[in-house]
Amino acid sequence: MSLVLENVAKNFGEVQALKGVSLTLKKGEVVGLLGPNGAGKSTLMKILTGYYTQWEGKVDFFEKDLKTELRAIQKQVGYLTENNPLYPEMYVKEYLQYVADLYRLKNPPIDQLMEQTGLLDHQKKKIQTISKGYKQRVGLAAALLHDPKLVILDEPTTGLDPNQLVEIRKLIRSLGKDKTVLLSTHILQEVDALCDRVLIIHKGEIVLDQALEVLRKDQKQIIEVSFDYRVETEALARIPKVEKVKNTHDFDYEIHIKGSEDLRPVVFDFAHDNGLKILKLQLKNESLEQLFNSLTS
Ligand code: ADP
Ligand code: MG
Repeated sequence: MSLVLENVAKNFGEVQALKGVSLTLKKGEVVGLLGPNGAGKSTLMKILTGYYTQWEGKVDFFEKDLKTELRAIQKQVGYLTENNPLYPEMYVKEYLQYVADLYRLKNPPIDQLMEQTGLLDHQKKKIQTISKGYKQRVGLAAALLHDPKLVILDEPTTGLDPNQLVEIRKLIRSLGKDKTVLLSTHILQEVDALCDRVLIIHKGEIVLDQALEVLRKDQKQIIEVSFDYRVETEALARIPKVEKVKNTHDFDYEIHIKGSEDLRPVVFDFAHDNGLKILKLQLKNESLEQLFNSLTS
C-alpha cells in the first residue's frame, strides 16, 4: 500500500468538511475522487499535500506518518492545484527551471518532461500566450519535476475544450504506469475514461469505493436511436446482448444492453441491413450515472 488513510476529519468552524475518511491507495493506481462541489475533494487533497496541518486522524505514506514526517513525504508528492497558478510573464521552460530551482533540484528532467507533456514546441513561449490546455501541461510538468511517487491533481481538466481534454487525459493515464495518481473531478465521464478505481465523496464522507472494472460488469447501457421508419421491436430485441427494447415515440427506440460492450456499430449494421436510416443515436451509461445520482442527491 502506498497510502493509508484512517478516519481523516477536518472542520472549518461549524462546517465538517471531512467526516472520518478511511481509504487506501495502491501503487500504480489511477484513482478518481468524484463528488459534487463542496463535497470535500480539495480539502482531502490539501491534507495529503501538507497544505493543512491541523486535522484529525492518521495518514500513512509508504510506512511514514504524515503528521511527523511531513517534509520527507512532501518530497514524494506532486500537486496540481485547482486553479493552477502560474507566472504569466515567464517563458515555459524558464518557469519550469524556476520551479526546479525553488525546490533545489540538482538535475531536473526538464527536457524529458517537456517532451512527455508535449511542450517542446512551446518552451520559448510566454505562459500568458498559450492555451488553457497547454497551461495545464505546464502545471503538470511542474508537479512532476521531482519525480514524485504520488501525484495529486485537483480538477485537472476543468475548463478544457474537448480536444485538450483527450490529450490531457492521455497524459494522466500514462502517469499511472509507475506512479499512484489521485485526481478529483465532478464529472462522472472523466472517471470512466481515466480511472482504475472510483471514490465517490459526498458531504465529507466516502460513499462508494469500487474498481471501475466491477462497476462496468454490472453496468447497463441504453442506446437511444431514431430511425426514418418503423421497426418491429422484436427484430431489434434479437440483436445479441440486447435485454429489452422500448418504442418510446413514433420511430424512436430505447435499446437496453447488459455489459459494457459498445453495440452502436451493431445497430448501424442492423439499420443498413434493414434499409433504414439512422436520424439520431446516443449511448447512455445507465448504472454509473444512476449510482452517482443516488449516492450524491
Ligand atoms: P470540493 O473541492 O469537493 O468542491 P472543498 O473541499 O473545497 O470541496 O470544500 C468542502 C467544504 O468545506 C465546503 O462546504 C466548503 O465550503 C468548506 N471549506 C473549504 N475550505 C474552506 C475554508 N478555507 N474555510 C471555510 N470553509 C471551507
Ligand atoms: Mg475543489
